[in-house]
Amino acid sequence: MDAAVDLVRTEAPTDTLTSAGGLSRWLAERRDALGPAGEELALRLPQFRALRESIGRTFAAALAGRPLPSDAVAALNAASAAAPGFPQLVASDREGPTVTTAMLPVGPTAEILAAIARSAIAIVGGPDRARLRRCEAPSCGRVFLAGRPDQVWCSMACGNRARVARHYARAGR
Ligand SMILES: [Zn+2]
Repeated sequence: MDAAVDLVRTEAPTDTLTSAGGLSRWLAERRDALGPAGEELALRLPQFRALRESIGRTFAAALAGRPLPSDAVAALNAASAAAPGFPQLVASDREGPTVTTAMLPVGPTAEILAAIARSAIAIVGGPDRARLRRCEAPSCGRVFLAGRPDQVWCSMACGNRARVARHYARAGR
């Protein structure tokens, strides 16, 4: 899943980024996407929570078709600018050439926060904005990127829960 969406989804229904341990686990699970995270990164919990808040408010405004909150946009742009990046061509015999963004080495915290901020910027500022949704399943309400135009649930589990809830609502009538 996209890093920015993934970060915002840690907020609800249960906030899983409330401790250094929670952040360490989240980063470890995303090692492939975000790169290895040193132990010192777990101490940056307030910065990750602040970025999450900015992304969450930006996504919420985009979902509602409201003007984007200027302070949140400024925070995303600042996080992106903190680790200057440039495209690099990666040759792969198996999958064909791809492009990655390499960053000037400015420290792991700034680099990972910049990568997450850029993913939010790319979503809200590009065609993926149309795929941004809020899950309609009971007790979810988390954002996700829809794979199909008619997708309203973020996962199979949410779809099943919503169907069961609907079934009981009907049966109770
Ligand atoms: Zn869901």
